[in-house]
Amino acid sequence: MQHCLTLLLLLTSSRISSQDSGAFYNEDDMRLSAQQWKALRSQHSARNAMPWSIYYWPQSTLVYSIASGFSKAELSLIAAAMDKISAQTCLRFRRSAQPREPQVVIQRKDAGCWSYVGYLGLRQELNLGRNCMLLGIVQHELLHALGFRHMHTDPRRDNFVRIAFENIMPEKQRFFVRDTVQGTADLGVDYDYASIMHYGPFAFSKNGQRTIVPLQGDVHIGQKNGLSAKDVLKLSRIYCT
Ligand SMILES: [Zn+2]
Repeated sequence: MQHCLTLLLLLTSSRISSQDSGAFYNEDDMRLSAQQWKALRSQHSARNAMPWSIYYWPQSTLVYSIASGFSKAELSLIAAAMDKISAQTCLRFRRSAQPREPQVVIQRKDAGCWSYVGYLGLRQELNLGRNCMLLGIVQHELLHALGFRHMHTDPRRDNFVRIAFENIMPEKQRFFVRDTVQGTADLGVDYDYASIMHYGPFAFSKNGQRTIVPLQGDVHIGQKNGLSAKDVLKLSRIYCT
């Protein structure tokens, strides 16, 4: 019943918008292309779904440029966020001098922290508003750009957390819908409470009650200090093999 309700909410509240990078679906801080959204959400497109690996950056290198509007300190923070990921994996970040080259354009167009998901083969935006300038938040958005989605929507999540839909703001419930197995890459890494891509326990609560309840007691979720060991392992499985 809960799932039916969720699906109904999803279908009625998901909006497709149009922008420079093409049509997209807004899912909290993720922007999904129509093709990605279909692979992750539609129960009917599984047979035609492309493998998620098409969204990984070629040659283990994320190509980017930085638009104007960032202070020197903020530019240093962005560089530090990238350097730390590079130091932990074989992933590389390369600043592009070619406007026509497919790249992540790091910008401050609005106040939000958001990114397209994975390599799309065009100029794709990653937005960092003033309040996004923490190392963990920048890394969270970079991981979206590298192809990661949120941990708590992992197809296996119901074995690890209970999503308390009754406590979630109705218009935000679609951010908690589980991804389909078909739209997910199996990297052979277990569910990860410590992932930088995991929402915290009170995410989008409407009543101060928990919205994500770990089924194993005494675990912390929602950390934004840096990549977890399993985040590093996943990045390595994608980009270092
Ligand atoms: Zn996110």
